[in-house]
Amino acid sequence: MKSLIETIKQAENNKVATGHFNVSDLTALKAIFEAAKNLQLPIIIGVSEGERDFIGTKQIAALVRSLRDEYSYPIYLNADHTYSREKIKEAVEAGFDAAVFDASKLPIEENIKRTKEVVEYVKSVNPNFLLEGELGYIGNGSTLLKEIPIGAAVKPEDLTKPEEAAQFVKETGVGLFAPAVGNLHGIIAGAEGNPALNIQRISEIKSAVNVPLVLHGGSGIKDEDFVSCIDAGISIIHINTELRLAWRKGMEKALNENPEEITPYKLLPIAVEEIKHVVEQRLKLFNKLI
Ligand SMILES: [Zn+2]
Repeated sequence: MKSLIETIKQAENNKVATGHFNVSDLTALKAIFEAAKNLQLPIIIGVSEGERDFIGTKQIAALVRSLRDEYSYPIYLNADHTYSREKIKEAVEAGFDAAVFDASKLPIEENIKRTKEVVEYVKSVNPNFLLEGELGYIGNGSTLLKEIPIGAAVKPEDLTKPEEAAQFVKETGVGLFAPAVGNLHGIIAGAEGNPALNIQRISEIKSAVNVPLVLHGGSGIKDEDFVSCIDAGISIIHINTELRLAWRKGMEKALNENPEEITPYKLLPIAVEEIKHVVEQRLKLFNKLI
């Protein structure tokens, strides 16, 4: 079985990206795993602090491990947006493959200082654990938005600068790097939609750092921008809001079409199908199968 970093490096060499999909429960996990297995593609399961609080840190680790072992499948687990060293420690101890330490709201010097401390801790307990750092604030909710979140970097002068990215990666020692390049968490409702990605900036950052790049806030990005950003050097793409929308759509459909039904395992497969469809489309696009 390939390690997560080997899988990412292979994607990098093949000019494709590995899909990172968030879960809150078994319904989404089942949908994501089935979609990936049908296409025989590696996947990363993400759980934010809120998602971990609901599903259980050790419990999601056991679920993902059981799929990996039973099917000898390249499915990996990432502790998405983690704000404290304590929560990183919980993920390391539970057997996660990776974590995102998010100090992106702080000034760069403070962000570097805190991220570096976490990298040093992680390396001291598990050198194979991948720690991702973030530079540039892109909002923090995988929800439907009315407008661009306050303080989020969208103007060219606010996006992550290549020289700061190089400094951040060098001084912190992170294994993965997430920049702000026009991406946002959440989907902006309404005609204008999410901003376009700055592909030129992605290429410049890719040339400036020696670690794989991660694109957060993939929901709401146009298909052609995904293809261009992968060509420019993005190796992992995060999708969450689109899965939450699919879950809700599936649940509403299940309840509306079966008003008398109370058996969860008869209703939930309808939500599984909705989520699975989104994951399949995204995985095909990220792996240039469409
Ligand atoms: Zn994110």
